Amino acid sequence: MDDLEAAALAIADAERAVSMTGAGVSTASGVPDFRSEGGLWDRYDPDDFHVGRFERDPAGFWELWIEIQEEVFGNADVRPNPAHEALAGLEAAGHLDAVVTQNVDGLHQAAGSDAVIELHGTHDRVECRRCGRKSGAASAVERAREGERPPRCDACSGVLKPASVLFGETLPEAALIRAHVHAEKSDAFLVAGSSLTVEPAASLPETAAGTGATLIVVNDEPTPHDGLATCVFRDDVTAVLPRIREAVDDVAD
Ligand code: ZN
Repeated sequence: MDDLEAAALAIADAERAVSMTGAGVSTASGVPDFRSEGGLWDRYDPDDFHVGRFERDPAGFWELWIEIQEEVFGNADVRPNPAHEALAGLEAAGHLDAVVTQNVDGLHQAAGSDAVIELHGTHDRVECRRCGRKSGAASAVERAREGERPPRCDACSGVLKPASVLFGETLPEAALIRAHVHAEKSDAFLVAGSSLTVEPAASLPETAAGTGATLIVVNDEPTPHDGLATCVFRDDVTAVLPRIREAVDDVAD
């Protein structure tokens, strides 16, 4: 049996299959990787996107945030790629229970995935620092662009903050707990496009493998957990995930 067949069987036979995705799935859609060489943090100072900076100077923060938004999401070509589509297809066919993602771009949902757990929040929404109300980011970004910096909550006039996790902020607890429960209960755990070096993403595959899941890793670079994996595909996620999806369809028939 080759790796593709083994991966497909593990997913098709799983009571619960879960995928975890990282930057590699987004870069294939043209979203820049924040951490890589030539990435955003080579050109911007991460300290400017620290939550402490946001609190001291929300107006200045929003000024830079608009710039980054334009750079990252202003490009109309940013849309789901075949890796996102393969995962959404697996979910629609009943073969995938959830996608846990480190990405904040909303592309899994855009591809049609419903069960998405966002470990680092999302750029698609903003939240009020005073009343906690969440709303779509588009209108806040638009208002900030027109000079309302920082944009304020419609309900209470509190300052709005992007709902993605800034440096110095803790990860959303509910998402973390759900991700851990999914990892523990999964029988197949499919890592795609993550180098597995940043917590908690680094430890979720370990948890899954430790409780008996078949671990499948698709990443173009080696990861620290390749040794725990039953199948390792050191290749592009946009090539491998559609093949896995097809193979699952074949063995599930
Ligand atoms: Zn509010």
